[in-house]
Amino acid sequence: MKLIFLDIDGVLVTSRHMVQSKKYFGHEFDPECVRNLQEVLEITEAKIVVSSSWREGRTLKQLQSIFEINGIKNVIGMTPIIEGAIRGKEIMEFLIHSLNSGWEVDRFVIIDDEEEMGELDAHLVETSFETGISKTVKDKVIHSLVHKTEV
Ligand SMILES: [Mg+2]
Repeated sequence: MKLIFLDIDGVLVTSRHMVQSKKYFGHEFDPECVRNLQEVLEITEAKIVVSSSWREGRTLKQLQSIFEINGIKNVIGMTPIIEGAIRGKEIMEFLIHSLNSGWEVDRFVIIDDEEEMGELDAHLVETSFETGISKTVKDKVIHSLVHKTEV
């Protein structure tokens, strides 16, 4: 299985498309970023684990419905919230738990606009808050999930 650990602000929500949405008490996803992510999912068949602060105060079901409104059905989990820990540590915990549960994670990438991944730095594809998942980011993510050997 391929996993994408996905941030939202600066990845799907961008500064160039700051539109408040009443539907889910947050900002709308930037349609161009959504299209680029959909293309990644079609090509790689990766599943999404949400690592964004959007998971705070929301259930997985609520997150899934926010993604479904945007035509994305591949959200299978969210990372645990660990008080005071960097995001990379929360992702590591999720990975350890998945492997212990018998999931076969063969490749993964982290898409985030902040570098706080610690020992998982090599898996980060960094975005900018202005443009989120751009075409360049899309190409890098596909390359990491399809062509690179890792884990
Ligand atoms: Mg962010």
